[in-house]
Order: sequence, then structure tokens, then C-alpha cells
Amino acid sequence: MLKSTRSNTNATITTAILQGLADNGGLFVFNNIDSTFFQPDLLSLSYRKLTNKLFRYLIDDIEDDDLQYIIEQSYNDPNFQPDTVSYTSTSNFTYLNLYHGNSFAFKDMALSVLPNLFTLSKQIQNINKPTVILTATSGDTGSAALAGFSKQPNTYTIVLYPTKGVSEFQEMQMNAFQSDKLIIYAVDGNFDDCQNIVKQLFKEVQVDNVLLSSANSINIGRLIPQIVYYIYSYLKLVRENIIKYGEEINFSVPTGNFGNIYAGYLAKRLGVPIKKLLISSNQNNVLTDAFNKGIYKIDRTLHPSISPSMDILISSNLERYIYDCLNQDYDKVNELMESLAKDKQIDTSFLNKSNLFYAGYATEEDTYQTIRKVFQEDNHLIDPHTAIATFVANEYHEKTKDNTHMVIVSTANPYKFSDALLDALHLPKDGNLLERMERIETYTKFPIDPRMKKVYNEHLSKKQLSKEKAYVVLKKVIGDIDAKS
Ligand SMILES: *Cc1c(COP(=O)(O)O)cnc(C)c1O
Repeated sequence: MLKSTRSNTNATITTAILQGLADNGGLFVFNNIDSTFFQPDLLSLSYRKLTNKLFRYLIDDIEDDDLQYIIEQSYNDPNFQPDTVSYTSTSNFTYLNLYHGNSFAFKDMALSVLPNLFTLSKQIQNINKPTVILTATSGDTGSAALAGFSKQPNTYTIVLYPTKGVSEFQEMQMNAFQSDKLIIYAVDGNFDDCQNIVKQLFKEVQVDNVLLSSANSINIGRLIPQIVYYIYSYLKLVRENIIKYGEEINFSVPTGNFGNIYAGYLAKRLGVPIKKLLISSNQNNVLTDAFNKGIYKIDRTLHPSISPSMDILISSNLERYIYDCLNQDYDKVNELMESLAKDKQIDTSFLNKSNLFYAGYATEEDTYQTIRKVFQEDNHLIDPHTAIATFVANEYHEKTKDNTHMVIVSTANPYKFSDALLDALHLPKDGNLLERMERIETYTKFPIDPRMKKVYNEHLSKKQLSKEKAYVVLKKVIGDIDAKS
């Protein structure tokens, strides 16, 4: 059973997955997990068997056979098996590389599983309507959602991305998906503009014959698959004798919506010996202030950065952690979230009482320098998001002298952000995108994933709309799908 952060609602997993949000804007949370899950017998399990065991532990309204089927469906994609996470050791850290999926970013880890859970949840709840997934993206969610949901029967996926902010490769990649059930638009504006159009559509569009839903990271179905790699990484470090069973480790996580790091927090609650979780932010350091200064303030100016997937002012999943900090008192959470909506800021001094989290951020210059330094000193190529996690891990180490083994969660293939890499490595930026990517490859000897060249060769040109037009066009698109369903 799940609970809501803002009311005494209970829900089954399938309901929570289909609904996304709880009744009055609350988020669904697990209420009955504890550290008995983590046992030495997990050490012998493959990634898939571990996934199965975790899903069985967390999910109570799906039968064994169906769970097994979901995992097979999700993990047997010829293009990507989520258990192909890889590791790179450098002088100080272990990098956990989560970017081998269809969108070359860690969001595939969840969005390769969620669509299958979604379809199964519909079956279990006897819903036969087609699904319309409506999503705003700052880059990575779009491609990951398109890749994941395009394989589902009877499902339309609509993606809006801003012309400002997404990288050239991210844009090409979204426009490389082709099917009459995939609808992709660029909107003149930034991510918030896209988000607002989507919110307005959810509020104002009436549908009768379709299930209108979203794929964003507040869905509990996205968190579940993300817990697996925290547990698996720990077990892997033990198996490779880098740490002893029971010894603590740290993770540094590039953080935007607090989804990835919240999965790490759940791994800790399930018993994985984690000492510190580093909340690594870019110059939009809302979370650093929330944890270190005790002020969570969301009416700031968004500064577009070279780590666009973390350009965020409202960090939605933080509410789930706040709920635990306030002793799971949903009335208090509700009050707090109401004042956040009204005053655009709240006092979060209760957050820094936690010994588990450390919060830090990197400026743009710190990010460039870290990419260069990691390449020069460790011969490893990382993307800007991962560079931020590295910078904050170094800063943490200097400040605390804590020698606990540190895992850096590496969230994107560096070639997704080639222009930032060229700047960081002081290489020229002329030529088309493929030439620029190959320049980095020649210089670093870090191979370009061949699937990226395919995207480059196969993408279509973008379809661009003004904000006003986007609302009208999409309202019609959704209305038409509803009418013919
Ligand atoms: C989405 C994303 C993040 C942020 O993850 P959250 O779960 O939103 O905190 C970090 N890096 C990359 C590359 C991403 O795509």
C-alpha cells in the first residue's frame, strides 16, 4: 500500500502509476519499507534477479507471473537492457555509468520499465481506453519517454520541448522518432513555458475516451527501477573487493527534480550501507539553499546552463523527503506546500538536521574545469551533469576529509553535450554536429556510440510553434484522438 504526502489516502501501486499524483496534489510514497530487505544473500543475484526481488518486495497488487513478464519485457529490448550499467574507476572515485539506454541518459533506467508497468496497470484495472502521454521536457525525458512508450499498444506520446535550453543532439534525437502515434513539438520559449502549457492542457482539456497521463518523475513507477542500481552498485563493489560487506559508501548525484537521489535515499532505507548522499546542483542552486540555508525559494530567475537537465527551480520530489522529515504528518506537509504555492518560499531549516545529505553546487566555470581535469588526470570523459557531481564530491572531500568510498552517478553520455565538451577541452567549434563530435573522439579516444550516428543521420527537421499556438494545436490533437477513440 502507498500513502499520499498530503492526505490519508491509501492507494495500490497500479492506481498510483495510472494516476501519477494523489488527490489534492500530493505525491505517493511507500509507507512500509525497512532495512530488513538488504541481506547478504542478495550478493549472488544478477541485476534482473535483484530487480525481481525488489519489485516483489515493493509491489503488492501485481502477481508473480506478471511481474516477471514486466521485467522481461523491459529488459529484453534488443537495443538496451537496463542491466548494462557500466563502471569506470578513476584515482578517487567509481563512476556508475547509467547512460547506455536509448536516449543516452539515465532516464532510460526508469522509462524503459514504466511504460510496461503502465500498460499492465491498465489491464489489471480493466481500462481499455487508449493512453495519451503528455510530457514537457528539458531534454532527456522526451527521448526516454518516446523510446519507452512507442513500444506500448494503443498509446500516443506527445512531447513539448523548449527551443531554448536543449542541446543540439537532444533536439535531433527527439526528432528522430517517427510514427503517427508520436507527436513532437518545439515551443518558442524555455522549459517553464512548456511545463505551463502542459499544466494548462491537463486542467482544461476534457477527454472521455482516452486516459490522459504524464511520464514525469513524480510518478512512483519511475522511482522503483531507479532504486535497483544503488543496491546493485553496492553489491558489485563488495564482489570486487573494493569495499567489505557492511562498510559504508557515499554517492554524489547530479540533481534536478530530486528523483534520482530520492531513489538513493530509498536504497538507504532498505538497508544499503550509505553514509552520505551528495545533492549536486548547478548554478540554479535551489536545493543547496534549501539544505544549507534553510530556505526553499522558487521564485528566482532560471539561469540556462550547460547542464540543462538540472535547470530547475521547483524540485518536485523533495516533497517526498520533506514528508519523512515532518514525521509523515500529511497535514503539516499540506500546510507547508500551500504556503509554498502562496509565498513562493518556505522555511526548510528542518532539512539540514539530516546527517545523510550534503548539498553543494558548481558554477559553469567549475563545470568546464572539472570536465578538463577529469580528462587530463584520469583519461575519462564525462558530461556536464556528471562533472557537477564530481566537483561537489571533490569539494566534500576537501571539507570533510571523509575517505568513505565515493560513487559518482554518471547520468548522460558526454556526446549529448558536445559543445560544452569542446569548450571545456579548448577545441574549435566549427563544422556540423557530427564533425564536432568526431573531433572530440579523435582527441579523447572515447568512442562515440554508433547509435548516436544513426540519430544524426536519421533525424527530421523540427516542428516549431509559438506558446499560444502550441496550446491551441495540442488541444486539437488531443481532442481529435479522443473523438476517434
Ligand atoms: C534528469 C537528469 C538529471 C536530474 O535528475 P533528477 O532525478 O531530476 O534529479 C541529471 N542529469 C541528467 C543527464 C538528467 O537527464
